[in-house]
Amino acid sequence: MKHKCPICKVETDSAVHEDFPFCSERCRDRDLGNWASEKYVVSEPVFDEEDLAEGKGDSIVLRLDDDLDNPNDPEH
Ligand SMILES: [Zn+2]
Repeated sequence: MKHKCPICKVETDSAVHEDFPFCSERCRDRDLGNWASEKYVVSEPVFDEEDLAEGKGDSIVLRLDDDLDNPNDPEH
């Protein structure tokens, strides 16, 4: 059975390539990496929407201030 590597478009053969339909382990890993990064990109806007709905974006600035204050507290 012949196919084309989805990553680099090289012709692959299920009888020859262990990583079929990918031509190599590198291309297979790269495809998995694409899926992982896509998931990551999709989840980010959802997180932002929750923040915006909760505190209209101002809470993000307040949280940054809290982070700066916390390390100073033990010094006082
Ligand atoms: Zn390839």
